[in-house]
Amino acid sequence: MNSCAINNELELKKIMLDIGIRLWTRGYVAANDGNMSVRISDGEILITPAGVSKGFMSQDMIIKINMDGEVISPNNGYSPSSEVKMHLEVYKQRDDVKAVIHAHPPYSTSFAVAGIPIDSLVLPESIMTLGTVPIAPYGTPSTSEIPDSIIPFIQNSDAVLLANHGALTLGIDLTTAYNRMETLEHTAHIISLAIGLGNVNKIPKEQVDKLMKIRDQMNIPGKIDLSSIK
Ligand SMILES: [Zn+2]
Repeated sequence: MNSCAINNELELKKIMLDIGIRLWTRGYVAANDGNMSVRISDGEILITPAGVSKGFMSQDMIIKINMDGEVISPNNGYSPSSEVKMHLEVYKQRDDVKAVIHAHPPYSTSFAVAGIPIDSLVLPESIMTLGTVPIAPYGTPSTSEIPDSIIPFIQNSDAVLLANHGALTLGIDLTTAYNRMETLEHTAHIISLAIGLGNVNKIPKEQVDKLMKIRDQMNIPGKIDLSSIK
């Protein structure tokens, strides 16, 4: 490996630690929950370790694996996240995705528990970034049930709720995937508060069309699905 690749890897590990702190500080992950990964080449992925708080990681905990989930460079007895199969499935399904983040943000997760997809378009930034957010059926963590359940939903969406579990966001890089998690949680939070106030006004379809034109002009990367608008 050349020095440029090593520097890039170190830089990505630093970003992973920083995003771990943000996830934990904002209450998006409890205890040792949550995980994230970044694709560093066609066959190599950096992923967070199992059994560690994502707010208190160090660089030596980050693990490099191949596309079969095998550890390339073992370190200090840490093993990859138990949700490694979910991350690998995303990379197999989406060539354009370079980073995956999974967390349990309370408002998003409450929609996933209530079985209510975020299919009401109420906030401009959220519409342009996420579109509608579907719910993948429940699957047992760490098994192939979750990777199998997300396949149809990640084809057209970079943000998916996992029934009775949490949320998954994708991006062309770690920061983009993280920002989608923040936007998703912010949106779920606002909709929850509006429901509490007794009314949710939706942005009309013709206004949504205008936002989609702006999105195209801005060349925002990623996929959004508006087919299930309510
Ligand atoms: Zn989880």
